[in-house]
Amino acid sequence: MKIKEAKFVTSNTDYRLCPEPDRPEYAFIGRSNVGKSSLINMLTDRKNLAKTSQQPGKTQLINHFMINDSWYLVDLPGYGYAKVSKTDRESWQPMIDNYLRNRPNLVCTFVLIDSRHDPQRVDLEFMEKLGQDGVPFHIVFTKVDKLKKSNQVLTHVESYKQKLLEVWEELPPIFVTSSEKGEGREALLETIENYNLAFEEARSR
Ligand code: GDP
Repeated sequence: MKIKEAKFVTSNTDYRLCPEPDRPEYAFIGRSNVGKSSLINMLTDRKNLAKTSQQPGKTQLINHFMINDSWYLVDLPGYGYAKVSKTDRESWQPMIDNYLRNRPNLVCTFVLIDSRHDPQRVDLEFMEKLGQDGVPFHIVFTKVDKLKKSNQVLTHVESYKQKLLEVWEELPPIFVTSSEKGEGREALLETIENYNLAFEEARSR
């Protein structure tokens, strides 16, 4: 898919105030500093669409971007940042839970995982909760360029899968990306494009 247009639409704290759910939508979420803003900018081929290297945990908003006038990319606040106050964390949880569970046009959520780290409880628990609530998600490993050898990537992804299989019967689709190198861009955009087509088809029936 070619990205012809990418523009910021709105920021909200309440899913009910988000734009009309008339287009397929994809949410991106992960721990603070996972590389989410960089990935969004890489995917959309824009330098500053999502703000990188902000104070971690600062963007506690649901940010909508309209892509090619045909789908929404949603930047959700990062989770698991220790320095965010308890009050902020408590307001984050229901906001995100409500958005993920009630947004009718949300096709899929991309959960970002820093490929350098071993499976972290906060990520595993987050995905488990999505599964329990029937929210479809895919896993996106970020910053793979930081793993020096390609076999390190393979080994890491494999051990992560094994960890997931302790709880999951089936694995979600997994993407391996580097915003630095543009790796994984085509695969992610192609997946979104296919979902967009399916969304349109379902709507026209
Ligand atoms: P966010 O908090 O999840 O939005 O993370 P950012 O996109 O701001 O990235 C956090 C830090 O990781 C920044 O210093 C980025 O430059 C760096 N980073 C993000 N993606 C990559 C990547 O693919 N490769 C490398 N080497 N660094 C990355």
